[in-house]
Amino acid sequence: MFKQFESFVRSMTGEGFVPLHTPQFNGNEKAYVVDTIDSTFVSSVGAYVTDFELAMAKYTGVKHAIAVTNGTAALHLSLIGVGVQSGDEVITQALTFVATSNAIHYCQASPVYLDVDADTMGLSPTAVKDWLLQNAVIENGSCINRHTRAKISACVVMHTFGHPARLDELKMVCDEYGIILVEDAAESLGSLYKGKHTGQVGKVAALSFNGNKIITTGGGGMILTNDSELAQQLKHLSTTAKVAHPWQYEHDQIGYNYRMPNLNAALGLAQLEGIESELAAKQELTLRYKGFFEQLANSDDSSSADRVQFIEQPDFACSNYWLQTIKFESREQQQAFLAQSNEAGIMTRPIWQLNNTLPMYRHCQTDELINSIDLANTIVNIPSSIRL
Ligand SMILES: *Cc1c(COP(=O)(O)O)cnc(C)c1O
Repeated sequence: MFKQFESFVRSMTGEGFVPLHTPQFNGNEKAYVVDTIDSTFVSSVGAYVTDFELAMAKYTGVKHAIAVTNGTAALHLSLIGVGVQSGDEVITQALTFVATSNAIHYCQASPVYLDVDADTMGLSPTAVKDWLLQNAVIENGSCINRHTRAKISACVVMHTFGHPARLDELKMVCDEYGIILVEDAAESLGSLYKGKHTGQVGKVAALSFNGNKIITTGGGGMILTNDSELAQQLKHLSTTAKVAHPWQYEHDQIGYNYRMPNLNAALGLAQLEGIESELAAKQELTLRYKGFFEQLANSDDSSSADRVQFIEQPDFACSNYWLQTIKFESREQQQAFLAQSNEAGIMTRPIWQLNNTLPMYRHCQTDELINSIDLANTIVNIPSSIRL
């Protein structure tokens, strides 16, 4: 199967190394960045920060967007904002980038790792419901873990590789138990859930603009929320909790230095202006891959090693297809393909190690993680920003 895949990829790229994802700078990036230098406003005070926030709020359809230094900081502040406190437990998926877990830990809370749905690869509402039924009780309006006695204050869903998770169902379970839903939308900028941009079902959502994401600011992130009071509180916390004053350094609580610099926001604004063409390129590549894998599955000489599933968006969603994903039938096939492709200069990657297997999160509670384990053993990300 690898040989056919290699010649298909090479038919689009020619010779040379093929990366997994590369940022594109085809618009106003240079002009805006140079403009910040010329203005001397390269740091956290500057017009591009506000412009980028307003443009992002408009693009995603949320009321408020707060630009911060990276996606992890966005998640950290989001969790603080919804009231996650020391000693709490926060439900999330084991199948996620480690930043989701780290942000929970920064609040001195513990992640509880539950399974994902096999099709969306995002947190499963059924898994959450089942686990809560067995392990949680509601006491004085709070959700309490019957075994640890800890408060379960929040639930973080992550839209894996840009494919939206089952948000309405998750929100319903969370509401039933008094748990606040937070969206780690770091990978899903441009992805729609039932026609609306991801990040609107949760009380708050976090975006990332790291170099490998749909758009980049070098490093950066953003918090999205429709809650005006929360937005104000989080912006305040992100700017060292400095009280507005013409000259005095007045801070009314322990804040964070998480505000996005103007230099990065300039890059971000230009990137956001070009997002439609970025998304269109992803869609076009998706169609190509889909055609190739369908043809492969239907070809006469397809041995079992050829039975590769190309992961498509769930039917209720419109995915940004940030990272293209295929699924093998076994770990052996997955490992063989990873070795062959990387040796041939075609960059491919397995999914992250399940967070509950990392040394610092090994003690955390989990359910059986059946789909998560299967996906970790069988899926591979393939080159996702080939320009046709
Ligand atoms: C990229 C990413 C983050 C963190 O973003 P940074 O900007 O790198 O801090 C968080 N969660 C997920 C799922 C991500 O993919």
